[in-house]
Amino acid sequence: MAKKTQNKQERNKDSLKEIVDKERAKTRFTGDVKIEEKSSRPSFDGIIYRFQNVSLKVNCSYPRSVLRHDISDGEAFDSASEHLIGHEILHKGNEKGEGCPKNEDLEMRTILIPISKVLASKGIPNIPFGSQGHTLYTYFTNLFEDVGVNVLKARDAGSVLGFSCLYDEMAGEKKVNPMYEAFIKIQALLAPRKNLRGISLLKKHFHNDKKTNKAVRNFMSRSGFDKIEDKAGYFSNEANWEKLSTIFAEELSDLLDKQDLQSSFFILLGGNDLARYNDPLVQEGLSIKAYNSAKKGGQGVFTPPLFIPNNLSLLALYRKLAKNIQVKTASHSEKVEMPVAYIDKRKFDLRKDTLEQLT
Ligand SMILES: [Zn+2]
Repeated sequence: MAKKTQNKQERNKDSLKEIVDKERAKTRFTGDVKIEEKSSRPSFDGIIYRFQNVSLKVNCSYPRSVLRHDISDGEAFDSASEHLIGHEILHKGNEKGEGCPKNEDLEMRTILIPISKVLASKGIPNIPFGSQGHTLYTYFTNLFEDVGVNVLKARDAGSVLGFSCLYDEMAGEKKVNPMYEAFIKIQALLAPRKNLRGISLLKKHFHNDKKTNKAVRNFMSRSGFDKIEDKAGYFSNEANWEKLSTIFAEELSDLLDKQDLQSSFFILLGGNDLARYNDPLVQEGLSIKAYNSAKKGGQGVFTPPLFIPNNLSLLALYRKLAKNIQVKTASHSEKVEMPVAYIDKRKFDLRKDTLEQLT
């Protein structure tokens, strides 16, 4: 038994390396890919840092007791690995320039800010959210971007099998919250119909509540996807992100439990490079950028980015601007002329002096 486990682990380790190399070559990804082994769940974890370097953590002894039996262990591991590395690379983009969100500027302008506007207008606060270092607004942003890359990967891999293996394990044995269900269903509807092999792995997690299905249907019809052939291609085109991310936030935020916001969290594939938006130094830079573009655009009014608390944004801005404020000062100190006063003592004169003059 020990030998069998060893073999499976070795087999998966070699296979993972091969899959990563193949995917890098195919997508012409030039950044580093670091692979580490782990033993805890979820078995597959990854992140791309600043759209450059990828770090993967994979459990090569991948326990897959919950998966359907007509998929071999090897096939499940390979499909999940291919999806994982593809997912991370696609956050930057593939050889055709398809991906989501590609870079920080696009992410902020076309996804994070529109989503923040929708959520703020609905009175949903930007609180720390879940266990992956997100706030609610960056979590929604990550969710949207993951839809984009998962659907592209499923289109190009020819099936959603890898995607299903990953998200099946993330859900675990339990039924899931409406946000998770809508997230999975939207992706199933965006993948080509012929590529849906593996989606049945996820059906057992669904509740099929009316409200969830309504949010999914509304997103699909309001976005116009019913009439679009290459849905993954449309989703990965940045020209459509402002509109899509707005509709996404409008529809999916209806599924948040307003009394218990944290209950709507579920773990996303990969860590969270969006945590950098919560770093005070990054927020300072972004506030100044927003100020400069308002000035350049002639709008004259600076509005702090909605995902940064107003007071922090203004503080950052004032700190920066203070350095450039010109203050008129003299280059030397003024001389002050003062008369020289004579100080001395004399004996008290009983006839002339009053008692107050006694010292
Ligand atoms: Zn991701």
